[in-house]
Amino acid sequence: MKVTEAEIVISAVSKKQYPGDMLPEIALAGRSNVGKSSFINKMINRKNLARTSSKPGKTQTLNFYKINESFYFVDVPGYGYAKVSKKERAKWGEMMEEYFMERENLKAAVLIVDIRHQPTEDDVLMYNFLKHYELPVIVIATKLDKIPKNKRSSHLQRVVKTLDADVKDIILPFSSETAEGKEEAWRTIESFI
Ligand code: GDP
Repeated sequence: MKVTEAEIVISAVSKKQYPGDMLPEIALAGRSNVGKSSFINKMINRKNLARTSSKPGKTQTLNFYKINESFYFVDVPGYGYAKVSKKERAKWGEMMEEYFMERENLKAAVLIVDIRHQPTEDDVLMYNFLKHYELPVIVIATKLDKIPKNKRSSHLQRVVKTLDADVKDIILPFSSETAEGKEEAWRTIESFI
């Protein structure tokens, strides 16, 4: 995919703010600090279009990035940050459900995990949440540059096993540092648009 245009269209907090053009959407989920913004920026060749919205104190929003006038990346707020109040957590859940339950033009979800570590309990919950909505999930195991080559396959297997990933779901190694895996990630995402 050659990205020629990428712009943030809206940071939405509720359904009535979602874009009305009903272009295909790909949702992106991941634990806070896992490397989700870096993944988005690398994929769309921007240094800083996507910013971390998951830091405490920042408004939790669904960020709609329109790509090449033809589809959206929908960056959903990060999870797993310990210092989040009960109230904020509940709001996060409501916003997620409102989006995932009814969005007909949502084609697939990308779940970003850290290839260095075993997926956390929160990662497993998020994977199951996405599968509950019967979505194809593309698991991006990022920070590939941080592990030695001879550990790649065992780390990928650990991701598959811990998530108990569906055989139809695709698990891809990726690095925002080196761009390794970028072509394959685009090919996979494009197959759902
Ligand atoms: P987010 O909170 O999930 O959006 O995470 P960020 O994209 O802000 O990344 C968190 C930290 O991890 C930053 O310091 C990034 O530079 C770093 N990071 C993200 N992806 C990679 C990667 O593929 N390789 C390396 N080495 N560092 C990364």
